Amino acid sequence: MLLENDDSVNRRELLRELVRQARFILSLPLTQAVISLSEPSETTATALRSKGDKMNDNELLGSNDPYRLPRHVIPTRYDIRLEPDLAAATFSGHVTITLMVKQETQTILLNATDLRIESTGLEGTTGRKIEATVELEPLLQRVRLSCRQPVTPGEWRLHLSFHGRLNDQLRGFYRSTYKDASGMVQTLAATQFEATDARRAFPCWDEPDFKAVFATTLVIDPQFTAISNTSVVSESVEESKKVMRFADTIKMSTYLVAFVVGRMQPTKPVFVGRTPLRIWTVPEKQELTPFGQEIAVASLKFFEEYYGITYPGDKLDLVAIPDFASGAMENFGAITFRETALLVDPRAGTHAELGRVADVVAHENAHMWFGDLVTMSWWNGLWLNEAFATFMEMLAVDAWKPEWKRWETFSVARAAAFSVDGLMSTRPIEYEVQAPKDADAMFDVLTYEKGASVLRMLEQYIGPTVFRDGVRRYLRTHAYGNADTKDLWTAIGAVAQQPVPELMNGWIFHPGFPLVTAEMDGQTLKLSQQRFTYLKQEIQPEQLWHIPVQIRLTKDGRTEERQLLLTERDATVPIPSDVTAVLVNAGGHGFYRAHHRGSLLQQLLDQSRDHLAPIERFNLVSDAWATTLAGVMPLDEYLALTARFKGEQDKNVWAVLLDSFSFLNRIIAPNDRASLEALVRDRVGQAVKNLGWDPQPGESDLIRQLRGDLLGALGRKGNDQATQQQAVEWYRQYRKDPSAVDPNIVPALVTILAYVGDETRYEEFSELYRTASTPQEERRYLFSLAMFRSPELIARTLTRTINGEIRTQDAPFIVAAAMTNVYVREQAWEFVKTNWDQMDRLFPKQGLRRMCGGIVGLATPELEKDVHHFFTARKIDFGGKTMDQYLEQLRVAVSFREREGRMMPATLASAIQS
Ligand SMILES: [Zn+2]
Repeated sequence: MLLENDDSVNRRELLRELVRQARFILSLPLTQAVISLSEPSETTATALRSKGDKMNDNELLGSNDPYRLPRHVIPTRYDIRLEPDLAAATFSGHVTITLMVKQETQTILLNATDLRIESTGLEGTTGRKIEATVELEPLLQRVRLSCRQPVTPGEWRLHLSFHGRLNDQLRGFYRSTYKDASGMVQTLAATQFEATDARRAFPCWDEPDFKAVFATTLVIDPQFTAISNTSVVSESVEESKKVMRFADTIKMSTYLVAFVVGRMQPTKPVFVGRTPLRIWTVPEKQELTPFGQEIAVASLKFFEEYYGITYPGDKLDLVAIPDFASGAMENFGAITFRETALLVDPRAGTHAELGRVADVVAHENAHMWFGDLVTMSWWNGLWLNEAFATFMEMLAVDAWKPEWKRWETFSVARAAAFSVDGLMSTRPIEYEVQAPKDADAMFDVLTYEKGASVLRMLEQYIGPTVFRDGVRRYLRTHAYGNADTKDLWTAIGAVAQQPVPELMNGWIFHPGFPLVTAEMDGQTLKLSQQRFTYLKQEIQPEQLWHIPVQIRLTKDGRTEERQLLLTERDATVPIPSDVTAVLVNAGGHGFYRAHHRGSLLQQLLDQSRDHLAPIERFNLVSDAWATTLAGVMPLDEYLALTARFKGEQDKNVWAVLLDSFSFLNRIIAPNDRASLEALVRDRVGQAVKNLGWDPQPGESDLIRQLRGDLLGALGRKGNDQATQQQAVEWYRQYRKDPSAVDPNIVPALVTILAYVGDETRYEEFSELYRTASTPQEERRYLFSLAMFRSPELIARTLTRTINGEIRTQDAPFIVAAAMTNVYVREQAWEFVKTNWDQMDRLFPKQGLRRMCGGIVGLATPELEKDVHHFFTARKIDFGGKTMDQYLEQLRVAVSFREREGRMMPATLASAIQS
């Protein structure tokens, strides 16, 4: 099944879009962009005509999709010379693109946007020259070159000069600023091209399957240095400018090209084989590099071994950029990061913060093969890049630090994918993409976390060695090229000698996931599958998956595993009479939820301590909570279940428990909140007492992290006054001597103090945010500013998200945090409505989209109505199904409130007694 692939629908949508964009551009002030507009309404008409008449006339331009370039002219090499002026925030450049013309043509189409393109001409191998005129098509982000004479098949060189602006939008070629040690503002220039923003830096064939070689030259001020994808081959001086020439890249996609220019400093290289690996930072932050470099080296070695292919570049640089829209970007050989994802002080960082750096670094390194060496053909297949990098990140970090039990923590990520994939407005992992904003919308939990989850399921089903060999075969077959999902299945299937497409297609090409219901009928286990949804709706036609179901039977303290592939709606399994417990989804790797009915659940709960692994206990709670939200399990049953976990010591199991309490906190009426706080104290209090505040000798990092998580929950969600008072005392000690307190509890101290904090505390935390010595500390104090309960203080925080005090890479997340703060959410929402236009202009697009995710916190019927009204009236659309998903998540919360809200205090009170 594929979603609305009806061409007539797409055409209508395109028409609407073009007309809307044309109006938008006409209403822009002329200074807004560097684009030289060629009469927008004309262009609109041309674009539409070319889609119909003209394209039929000229089959060379015969793509039906105006966002795709025709294939009769193929770039093979770019010689790029760029001269950024950091002070003026502009750049100029020249590119010579070597082209292979396959069929005679007089029209060449390529991508460019927000660029002024000056001159052009083609040059043949024999020296023949053809002039061409340039026409920009801003709505389609294209350049149309009309050649004076026909360009004959063969090799040509296209020359283009261009000018652009270093923008503040954190995409394309952009400007980032920071304060140095003396308080001076410094500027650097960096790039972020994925998905479709290379065209903002130089004219190019900006689609992932137009792979080419890139040879970059950067002309910069002598006090700066420059980083690009490859090693520097020469450095010279021309007219008082530094000219840095970089080696040719491998054949790769445009979105992987990168340039960074500024006062950057590298670490000493560590060699992995022949590859020098360095970490780059702004000059003040070099001492925060060792941890990141260690995992970078370890994971690069791991991947060379796992993939059986040495790293394909000539060097690897990991670069921390002060302003960065996402977490990191896998530019080949020059990976860029936001500072929190690369730089950390291991003595001051929490387990979660160190884990984040390890994950992101390993993820990006994995991309050097998955994504960079072999690339998806088009953005619909983004999961081939991202799901694999996410999966590989787990493997590498797990191999590096087995004691972190990375695959167990992955449960939390899998649950995040479930929570979106249980919506009616979910989408298949592989999903149609046309416009750039649709490509942007693909970067979500479905691509990353669901994708990685189904890979894990497959790996466990066919076996890790077979899976790895299939991956090796896939990479070898498609190296330096592009591939689709079917290519992956072909490679893995050939090694596994199993029909992998039949097994996997349901998980990749269909939306949603199954709920497997398990029930005993005499000595028979009855299993059935149906699509899991939070909101009751008929699903037509009925969807079935091929589900590898792992079952564990327990008898006399011994266990036995059974595996079956559930392909029909129902199946039965005979169970020996002496079996005392049956677990569906043993091992916990299946991407489905299990509903153990009646006695099955009771038996599991009775034995959970001894017979269930942490990941299985996690699933038991997570599945129970999800079925409660869906109205399958009554709330009182779920709350009774949580009582069984008071002695739990796994941080992931606690994460799902605490998450369910947070959800209840968002929907409970303010007057009833005390009853929820009492429940939280009851469930969490004993575990906190068991752990104490001081770390014990020999204790694992995971337990230390758990202590912090539980203290934070008890102090805030439980509103526990003893904990709050103690937090004040511990924080005082911490400020006197940071080494006196385990770093894992510091975030809890800060959030509790914000929760109970007054203006003095607010000012203290604001100052600590401004003067923080690590990116993690900066982030911690910044986010605390959204956790105060006083409307007056929150008003200050909100103002700072749009007045330039808070970086735009962070501001949207602060607004989202305020919208999920139940004490001030109405105020935060009002602020969003009032300042929408300014936020739209200031924030990176990606950040704005993530900010809107905060509306799930607005879980009252009145706010829900208002949210709908606002987004509909403003016609806000982030591409794909993003907005629908946010709204449906809000609906799930509000409908739960409508169902359970009135009885909530009584339900909670009786749950405490049970
Ligand atoms: Zn990635």
